[in-house]
Amino acid sequence: MGGCKVTIHITWHDLTIQKEDRNRLNGHRGAVVWLTGLSGSGKSTIANALDYQLYQRNIRSYVLDGDNIRHGLNKDLGFSEKDRVENIRRIGEVAKLFVDSGQIVVTAFISPFQRDRDIVRTLFSEEEFYEVYVKCPLETCEARDPKGLYEKARSGEIKQFTGIDSPYEAPEEPELVVATDKLTVEESTRKIIRYLSEREIIRL
Ligand code: ADP
Repeated sequence: MGGCKVTIHITWHDLTIQKEDRNRLNGHRGAVVWLTGLSGSGKSTIANALDYQLYQRNIRSYVLDGDNIRHGLNKDLGFSEKDRVENIRRIGEVAKLFVDSGQIVVTAFISPFQRDRDIVRTLFSEEEFYEVYVKCPLETCEARDPKGLYEKARSGEIKQFTGIDSPYEAPEEPELVVATDKLTVEESTRKIIRYLSEREIIRL
């Protein structure tokens, strides 16, 4: 970063247990369900419901969200443009480790920029990365305002808030769209599970 180039000599160890071995053990494949959408669109709610549904089916899954990432690994990052880019980059790398370990990782971050999401996509094969647009009109998100953040953004207490004074770039070609102003949480979750099954990530 910052234009400083360092040559690092790393030798990779050939690991005996490969991804395919872990997939066989688990009985399902590893993948990322990358939820993107405005604040209040329902990413965390759907991620949690999806995680629960997968757990019920003996599928190994895990949710990455602001709570477990921003308070730990990324607690040194703020909300400047540079830090937002780095935030998503690190989340992508962590998601990759989860996929390597054979799990289904569900990420719940606004991730407003297409370019950043595309960079994360390059870390994975085509069968491993699923961009899911959690679509909801700004007015509805603002009316829900589950954390009171829109109110703070409107009053100027929070600056550069996505959808208010910072842009949100809707996915250009998401694998899936769940419109949370039309679908219930259960319907959205079912839609994602059905999709994972169609792509043969899981077997129902
Ligand atoms: P995000 O993680 O995208 O910021 P949250 O999941 O934290 O959003 O908040 C979404 C809020 O909207 C929750 O309070 C949830 O209960 C509510 N909600 C109402 N209807 C829906 C729906 N159909 N799908 C998802 N969330 C919904």
